[in-house]
Amino acid sequence: MQTRQLGHSGLEVSVVGLGCNNFGGMIDAVTTDKAAAVVETAIDAGITLFDTSDSYGIDGGSETVLGQVLGKRRKDIVLATKFASPMGCVKSGRINGSRRYIMAAVEDSLRRLNTDYIDLYQYHFPDPLTPIEETMRALDDLVRQGKVRYLGCSNLTAWQLVDANWTARHFGMDRLLSTQTEYNLLERRAKTDLAPALQAAGMTLLPYFPLASGLLTGKYRKGEPLPDNTRMALPYFRKGVTDDRLDVIERLITFCEDRGRTLLELAFSWLLADPLVSSVIAGATRPEQVTANVAASGWCLSGGDLAELDTILQPQV
Ligand code: NAP
Repeated sequence: MQTRQLGHSGLEVSVVGLGCNNFGGMIDAVTTDKAAAVVETAIDAGITLFDTSDSYGIDGGSETVLGQVLGKRRKDIVLATKFASPMGCVKSGRINGSRRYIMAAVEDSLRRLNTDYIDLYQYHFPDPLTPIEETMRALDDLVRQGKVRYLGCSNLTAWQLVDANWTARHFGMDRLLSTQTEYNLLERRAKTDLAPALQAAGMTLLPYFPLASGLLTGKYRKGEPLPDNTRMALPYFRKGVTDDRLDVIERLITFCEDRGRTLLELAFSWLLADPLVSSVIAGATRPEQVTANVAASGWCLSGGDLAELDTILQPQV
């Protein structure tokens, strides 16, 4: 497993990571055996980056399950979590980046994760009410206290990233190293909206929905019924399976087959061809998915391949 640096830092992460938003809800709402099998396979395959959030699963369920199944192996991995998003069954409350909220949220995450430090603590969504200086100062204090090693964010716009890091720099505080945004073969707006700001700030990207929730695994085909026991068969996600997207997927599958490759390989390798991407944090519900995902990351796409893909993929505005 190759590793890459996370932003301008000494933190190295595996190029394939594990997104843990299925834990404590989609799988293992009350047990831990399915998540344990996924995590064990991931660690054995060399995955070091595990991404969760206090808002994933039921009442912090993803963090709780992850904390339980990691056990002693916690120190061998890079544990990333997030704060600021409403929690609880009804997801009530506002997005909150205030000092008071952060100081309580980190203690709750540490307890659920069964650890005394978080490797990467990420500001999940921007709070429109709290000044960025207050948020960055609270985060900087957590770094000084040793509760958090590095800082990141997610869903911030380019100007919000720049504002956060200029504020941090101005006051000599720790800066954000990475951001998460939706980025995959079907959703490429990050390339124009965020990439220049990330490059200028020395930050890197952890794309979320890297497999478009499974659409880019090749298991959803035009004209075929949605496979059972999959995310896209759930009513909430079904609306994401449009004819337009399935048409693009069919063209991408042909592109892959012409080269003796699979769509899953393309999904990982296209993201990793972007030097701004540190790790592809794909989610998984089964250990065999993790094994397939790790094996899919090794295709080195040529300049010609990337140019041809640009013509297959429709421009996005
Ligand atoms: P994803 O990685 O695009 O898709 C994951 C889903 O695809 C899996 O749960 C599984 O679903 C299916 N899958 C994965 N590997 C497969 C394989 N080899 N073969 C067949 N099916 C496969 O979406 P995601 O997990 O939602 O996103 C990745 C991570 O990003 C999350 O886990 C989370 O950590 C993070 N995230 C962050 C934000 C944010 O706001 N910062 C938002 C969303 C996600 P089924 O088995 O159910 O089909």
